[in-house]
Amino acid sequence: MDNNELQRLTENISLQHFNKPFLHEALFNNRLRATGGRYILQSHNIEISTKQYEAFGEAAITEIIKHELVHYHLHIEGKGYRHRDRDFKALAKEVGAPRYCSPLPNRTYKYRYICKRCDTVYPRQRRMSTYRYRCKCGGRLKEEITQQ
Ligand SMILES: [Zn+2]
Ligand SMILES: [Zn+2]
Repeated sequence: MDNNELQRLTENISLQHFNKPFLHEALFNNRLRATGGRYILQSHNIEISTKQYEAFGEAAITEIIKHELVHYHLHIEGKGYRHRDRDFKALAKEVGAPRYCSPLPNRTYKYRYICKRCDTVYPRQRRMSTYRYRCKCGGRLKEEITQQ
């Protein structure tokens, strides 16, 4: 997944769960290590940890994007956008977003399968056959053993 796909994913999540457009930028940041993502007040942009995506895949960053979009929409509308604010708690609950910015967990998946065609990452705890299984796009997968 690249920045363009991350942008599209964020725009889709915004429309689908918030019924409002995301009009700023969503970017991968490979230096974000303490948290999975962050919302930047000054630029209104959302940054997602590259490491989080590589370790946990698209489903995990979808949750993080939802969380960052709660900050985003509340901040833009001049409402309580901090974790402790009542507006924040209410909207996070409404859209089913995690209440806190997910930290990067210590446990990581043992294997990582990367599509040779579209670069989608599939983290797996167990080894799988790259002959039998392919990417959702039909591309072949490359196996990587992650560092523990
Ligand atoms: Zn947060
Ligand atoms: Zn693919």
